[in-house]
Amino acid sequence: MSTFFSPLLADLAPYVPGEQPQDRAYVKLNTNESPYPPPPGVAWALSGREVEDLRLYPDPAAKALKAALARQYGVGEDQVFVGNGSDEVLDFAFLAYATDGRGVAFPDITYGFYPVFAALHRVEARAIPLREGFRLAVEDYARLSRTIVIANPNAPTGLALRRDEVEQVVRANPDSVVVIDEAYVDFGAESAVPLVARYGNLLVVQTFSKSRSMAGARLGYAIGCPALIRDLATIQFSTNPYNVSRTALRAGEQALAEQAYFDDNCRKIQETRAYTKAALEALGFFCTDSRANFLFARHPRLAGEALYRGLKERGVLVRWFDSPRIRDFNRITIGTRPQMDLLLEKVRELL
Ligand code: PMP
Repeated sequence: MSTFFSPLLADLAPYVPGEQPQDRAYVKLNTNESPYPPPPGVAWALSGREVEDLRLYPDPAAKALKAALARQYGVGEDQVFVGNGSDEVLDFAFLAYATDGRGVAFPDITYGFYPVFAALHRVEARAIPLREGFRLAVEDYARLSRTIVIANPNAPTGLALRRDEVEQVVRANPDSVVVIDEAYVDFGAESAVPLVARYGNLLVVQTFSKSRSMAGARLGYAIGCPALIRDLATIQFSTNPYNVSRTALRAGEQALAEQAYFDDNCRKIQETRAYTKAALEALGFFCTDSRANFLFARHPRLAGEALYRGLKERGVLVRWFDSPRIRDFNRITIGTRPQMDLLLEKVRELL
């Protein structure tokens, strides 16, 4: 840190993304990317004319993509916001809603970026402990009088709330914005998007990074009532009006035109998840009931860190969190069936 770095931010501990080592080719099961490429239409959409047009700025209002998302989700175009990955959308939401002095609340075990956004924006964060078995009890989220952020399905546990449970939280906090981060919702959970029409305090955040195979494009979005969407636009136009590149906007529009391809991938990933979970359980692992594109697994005789390190030595990357309640677990992204068979082979060696 230089002597010029703001003392206000001196104790900021930045988010640590999953490792991307370059020393050898790994089977990468550590950052919840899709094992499947985007459909060919995305490549066509990005060639020729689109390349020439890179000399032009993108549409800061992202009209075409918002219209396509609005059609897809049956909402108005004024109910959609797009950002540079859902991380940016979440960052904007923290800045827009959680800096009012009342603070923010989220589970003690959840996406590790939430505490970082809170620290960055100097917002007091309350971590609400998940109950036994990492269960989120909606009664713990009644009348909190602060912004609430819930990943559904949660990460890294993979556990999901039903839509009626999300609705209970939204109803119990009419004076606060409830942000539901649905990065993994397409892998088998219930989306809260249908609730948006009825609740002005609900913001649903999704991404093209997981189910739509475009983590590298950096494209995320939020769906909420028009007033909330205008708030996010105010932050966007006060930060980086051209927050989403032309390439990402175009790729996103094309991806939405090929939704059936992604639905098929999600089905395959859920099948591979069930297959891998059964195989791990047969080897003595406990796995949570994950509704995401990853498993969260613990073995009674193999420490979480030992499994992580042993797999890495054998060319397979998984994610281990050195954090008290989850140190015994590893988060394992669902890849292709051959990738999971390789993982299982290496796990058997280690056992
Ligand atoms: N939310 C959750 C729960 C995540 O796990 C991730 C991925 N790291 C994100 C949001 C951010 O995804 P992106 O910025 O790629 O849309």
